[in-house]
Amino acid sequence: MGQLSFYNFMKKNRILTALCLLGFVLGNAQSYIPTYATRANQVTQTNINTLLQEFETLGVKKTGTVANDNALQWIKNKYLGFGYTASQIQENPFSYFNGTGTTSSKNLIITKTGTLYPNTFVIICGHFDTITGPGVDDNGSGTAAILEVARILQSVPTEYSIKFIHFSGEEQGLKGSAAYVNDVVNATSPKMNIKLVFNLDQVGGKIGNNNNTIYCDQDQGGLTSNNAASQAVTQQLATCTTLYSPLLTAFDPAYSSDYIPFEQNGEVITGFYEYVRGYLEHTANDTLVNVDKPYVKNVAMAAVGAAQHFAVAQTTLSTTENSISDFDVQVYPIPTPSILNVDFVDTKNQKFEFQILDMTGKLMLNTTKKQMDISSLDNGIYIGKLKIGDRYFQKKIIVKK
Ligand SMILES: [Zn+2]
Repeated sequence: MGQLSFYNFMKKNRILTALCLLGFVLGNAQSYIPTYATRANQVTQTNINTLLQEFETLGVKKTGTVANDNALQWIKNKYLGFGYTASQIQENPFSYFNGTGTTSSKNLIITKTGTLYPNTFVIICGHFDTITGPGVDDNGSGTAAILEVARILQSVPTEYSIKFIHFSGEEQGLKGSAAYVNDVVNATSPKMNIKLVFNLDQVGGKIGNNNNTIYCDQDQGGLTSNNAASQAVTQQLATCTTLYSPLLTAFDPAYSSDYIPFEQNGEVITGFYEYVRGYLEHTANDTLVNVDKPYVKNVAMAAVGAAQHFAVAQTTLSTTENSISDFDVQVYPIPTPSILNVDFVDTKNQKFEFQILDMTGKLMLNTTKKQMDISSLDNGIYIGKLKIGDRYFQKKIIVKK
């Protein structure tokens, strides 16, 4: 290489470097995508509550028990109800020595094939087995959030394939996820290509606490080769959380959940975990009344946003998708002695107005704020009327001092 060509090479290389840097910046700059928000907004509190309630009713889902099998069947039926076909659903049986004999159980895997990268997978996972109690926080909460993601994305094209995986055997030491990595990921030829693993475990929060933050789990240990990539996707997870849910984010090290066998296999991992812990996991008190249901809903919204980002979902709404009709308006607390909150996400950022009428239809209050003091109203029942753009929502309000 002569001097001149070397100079030219350097010049070219600098441009390449600049392009790479630009690409790096662009690649990480996650702009708000209104369609992603519309889909995140399709998570409903009613669905979350129903899923958590049903999860509780399934009882103590200890690995190897009938209740554990019933839970797997319940999850499978949810997917069939969402429109996934039997050919998309697989069971992955595994067994392990429990000290005195063999315990057998199954993981459940649902595959949604990508349009551009069908052989590269975004894994969205969480365990459904519990121990001692019904495990509504650990891990009915993650299970409910994953089910909402799967429901909302069922008909949404994504560039990457998604595998929704519900692991069993987590409480016995990550038995199900370890078996899956060994028997499926590494036994596939060529080895399964995994873009990243996004694990949701224990996202129910602490009841009575203002749960406004979620931990985004970073790989800071184990193999060092995959740490930097985990930091990058965990940052993206945090950004998605901010863009598509009301939650704030914090970072913590990934540990002791189903992403760990993947981490040890060199995969890129991330996850969600409750920021303020209820500390009721693995007890009989890990029940519905002790879980912050709106928090689980917010986590599910963040997960819908992140899943779309990771799998690169179509950015236009298809005709088969629910539109803004799934607007979820929350008015709380009810009853209230004074402060009333109105909450909703409007991706179009339209003007809104909130009115309170008495039972005769007389206008008592008119505001454009999401929080108001209604302590001047007499005890009784009122109608709250929310107008967003040209749409109306009505909610019953009770004033009780
Ligand atoms: Zn757990």
